[in-house]
Amino acid sequence: MNSTSLDQAVIQQLKQWPWREAKALQKTLRSRKPKSGKVLFETGFGPSGLPHIGTFAEVARTTWVRRAFELLTGEETELYAFSDNMDGLRKVPSNLPNAHLIEPHLNKPLCRIPDPFGTHASFSGHMNAKLQEFLDHFGFDYTFKASDAMYTGGVFNEGLVRILERYDAVRDVILPTLSEEKRDAWSPFFPICTACGRVNGTEVVATFPERGSLAYRCTTCGHEGEVPVTDGHVKVGWKVDWALRWFTFGVNYEMYGKDLIDSYTLSSKICRIMGEEPPLGMFYELFLGKDGEKISKTKGNGLTIDEWLQYGPLRSLTLFIFKRPDQASRLFFEVIPQHVDEYLMHLGQYPELPEGARQLNSPIWFLHHQDVKAGALPSFSGDLNFATLLNLVTVLNTDDPDIVWEYILRYRPEAEQDRQVMDELVARALAYYRTFILPTKVHTLPSEEFRPAVDALLTWLEGAGEASAEAIQTAAYAAGNEAGVNLREFFKAMYRLLLGQEQGPRLGTFIQLYGVQATLDLARQKIAELEAAPTPEEQP
Ligand SMILES: [Zn+2]
Repeated sequence: MNSTSLDQAVIQQLKQWPWREAKALQKTLRSRKPKSGKVLFETGFGPSGLPHIGTFAEVARTTWVRRAFELLTGEETELYAFSDNMDGLRKVPSNLPNAHLIEPHLNKPLCRIPDPFGTHASFSGHMNAKLQEFLDHFGFDYTFKASDAMYTGGVFNEGLVRILERYDAVRDVILPTLSEEKRDAWSPFFPICTACGRVNGTEVVATFPERGSLAYRCTTCGHEGEVPVTDGHVKVGWKVDWALRWFTFGVNYEMYGKDLIDSYTLSSKICRIMGEEPPLGMFYELFLGKDGEKISKTKGNGLTIDEWLQYGPLRSLTLFIFKRPDQASRLFFEVIPQHVDEYLMHLGQYPELPEGARQLNSPIWFLHHQDVKAGALPSFSGDLNFATLLNLVTVLNTDDPDIVWEYILRYRPEAEQDRQVMDELVARALAYYRTFILPTKVHTLPSEEFRPAVDALLTWLEGAGEASAEAIQTAAYAAGNEAGVNLREFFKAMYRLLLGQEQGPRLGTFIQLYGVQATLDLARQKIAELEAAPTPEEQP
């Protein structure tokens, strides 16, 4: 019997969602032992397209539950990444080349369609290679399984025979979910036509459980025949396929998107009819676009992983995925800076947290699991967050990371220790600035109401020398209070003057970092430029 190294008192305080899932999974194992000795997690893919952010999110979230479960129980675990490459391809995906190569093979299993890229033996061979490349690139630990090898290798045979034996009971689960005219023709089995090779469009006309076979008719080519249900002659439809995998492998845990809640329920019923308990499942909400709309792979209104990684480090993305899987989060560029700074806050705090529940509940324990285990967590000790860096880059108006570093090191020599993290941040701040801030920059002169407060602060800065961020912040408050203006609006006026932006970082921190004299020079230069320029009303 394996056991945990955690105290009961600590276990009780583990509240993050992967811990809740791990505890629930532990309970199910009291009545249902893992088939292979290892507790099995599964995540599934349809290889009809390239892996995307949803794929990444599902594997990442499953992995976090797995890591929590391992520590909680001391059990050995395994993750199957399962590709359903026996599925038929119904239409040519719009984002792939050489549609003419694929079109004649529509409705055949994905593993029997040529690779439109011409680099692999089949369509799904290409997508499966991409999927594994993708999972390896991000360091996921998994065992890859493809459907065709399971069917043709006989791994699924016992389950397929079981479905044939309990044919009517399986049909009774699905029929009520279908429209009346579709019920008669529905079968859990999709024979692959021996004449034309198509899997979509074949109809089962009779079953022969006594000899483990069925008779079918192909609606595409008209062929009629009898085939065994075993050894890859027949595949089962999607909801039944899920149950077949759970039955065969003894899957203990599987996540799925909210759109598959009904499928999970039906597949669970079928799995029980086959004689096995279904896995514990958890559904997650799907990502939405900027305006709360559904993300469509073909419309391209979602953000890709590569796009995110241009502007935020990997862990800012994984933090976004980690937080609240039960909420439909909007996925768009503007959420990146906030998540970078939340990530940095957690990273900076982690080494200070007491060992035990506080560390185990930190997202860092999950996002940096390997680093935490190896004692190699990158250090981040500073107060230079992404928002401040973005503003520094905004006033520097530069493309050169060395110039940014020069500034950083002049005022934060200790940032050198955080070089690994900071280098990533600087590169991304520059990219974010170029794409999203530069086109929107508009410097404006403070209005008459705020001008006295602005002038008072600038006068104070003239004698400030190397004042601390704290002292500058206090002076800014005093200048605003003395002029009797709304402080929020006063700070906005400063940001608009210095940064050409509505919002900015903590003013004291920023001025100290940018330099008191440099701030004075910049403010004076902008005021002179803006006073010399015609105001918008005066322009023709
Ligand atoms: Zn046919």
